[in-house]
Amino acid sequence: MCGIFGIYRHPEAAKLAVYGLYALQHRGQESAGVASSDGDVLHLAKGMGLVSEVFGGRDLDDLPGDCSIGHVRYSTSGSSYLANAGPILAATQHGEVALGHNGNLVNCCDLREELEGGGAIFSTTTDSEVILHLFARSTQADPVDALVESLKRLQGAFSLVVLLRDALVGVRDPWGFRPLVLGDLEGSPVLASETCALDLLNARYIREIAPGEVIIMDREGIRSLFPFPKVQPVPCIFEYVYFARPDSDLFGRVVFPIRQAMGRILAKEHPVEADMVVPVPDSGLPAAMGYSEQSGIPLVWGLIRNHYVGRTFIAPRQSMRDVSVRLKLNAVPALLKGKRVVLVDDSLVRGTTSRKIVRLVRDAGAAEVHLRLSSPPIVNSCVYGIDTPERSELLAANMDLEAITAFVEADSVGYLSVEGMHAAAETDLGRACHACFGGPYPVQYTQLRERQRHLFEKDHR
Ligand code: SF4
Repeated sequence: MCGIFGIYRHPEAAKLAVYGLYALQHRGQESAGVASSDGDVLHLAKGMGLVSEVFGGRDLDDLPGDCSIGHVRYSTSGSSYLANAGPILAATQHGEVALGHNGNLVNCCDLREELEGGGAIFSTTTDSEVILHLFARSTQADPVDALVESLKRLQGAFSLVVLLRDALVGVRDPWGFRPLVLGDLEGSPVLASETCALDLLNARYIREIAPGEVIIMDREGIRSLFPFPKVQPVPCIFEYVYFARPDSDLFGRVVFPIRQAMGRILAKEHPVEADMVVPVPDSGLPAAMGYSEQSGIPLVWGLIRNHYVGRTFIAPRQSMRDVSVRLKLNAVPALLKGKRVVLVDDSLVRGTTSRKIVRLVRDAGAAEVHLRLSSPPIVNSCVYGIDTPERSELLAANMDLEAITAFVEADSVGYLSVEGMHAAAETDLGRACHACFGGPYPVQYTQLRERQRHLFEKDHR
């Protein structure tokens, strides 16, 4: 997962890019970076950590110019270290270029092998750098033509913001896996992964960048190209389940009510006699609201989340059971004691966190804990830019419902059906990717994830 942002021709471009990244922080917490163009030279600042850690309290004098792009990263290809942080910048025969990428290229190993065979020297272990090398090698005279030529070699998920010396380009792959939207701030065009970044800036939402669209902003104005062969768009349905911010307008629909609808359908598919519906904060809240509305069972804040826990912590010497979850969540015994609880979460991946949360609720005195998930069982890994674990680590890929229920130590477990998920999102089976929920992989990938990791990391460590 990553979040990307771009703004063209605004006197405070870099500052607005940083603000935009704050709104997109949920899409990546490993690193943050901003590149700017002063019309002559490109500038770059990036670091490991949250946006506030990288940019908080610093002036942005080293990012001059009125065009800027930003990137927050969560690694799905290549390890987490500074060289891999976005945007990545290169000097080429077509001039300097900076790139922010959300997604994952499924043919990046083949492309990288080909490029390295031709003498290319890579300086990161990301799949995104492949795009810069293709761009650098293009024989097209015009930089935008060179970029388009490079894009045609790519397979998989790529929403991009590309900064050239005097142009900003937005790209969405023809399958439309990852979101990208266009807005306007006082006459300056804005690109962002999600509309929540536009809202923060008070920018006007104009439209989604269409699957397969390349939108170019330069001195001639704004124009769009559609250089890819036409395919059926298949946006990622997991964006609706979990990844996107609930206040965003994604693929033409606001996320929050979709998650509520998932909860309502979940209540119809898996009813249970209970005293209260307890959301797993924050991501389980909208679905829990829907479950409560549909079932008539009251919604109770039986779990309180601590928002100030960092991403890493030092484990205590004496083993303290489930400390990682207890640092983030606290159960409220006064509310839960003796109650039959429907615990609503958005998804279950490895199952270890869910088990800890079930224990937490039980330890607080709950009489019964019924886990309800507002997405179907995750049975496959994602190859399009979401960092799901290998199939061997996915609980639902390796256990039946009875075994899952025993593993998470719940009284019962109920998953939303694939049909229910699509009904809530108003998509249908062929018009959204649900490969991780057992659907087909819309873009075939020839390389195994292990091979990808190996190839991209072998030289670095
Ligand atoms: S496999 Fe799952 S997470 Fe990956 S793009 Fe498809 S729906 Fe989204």
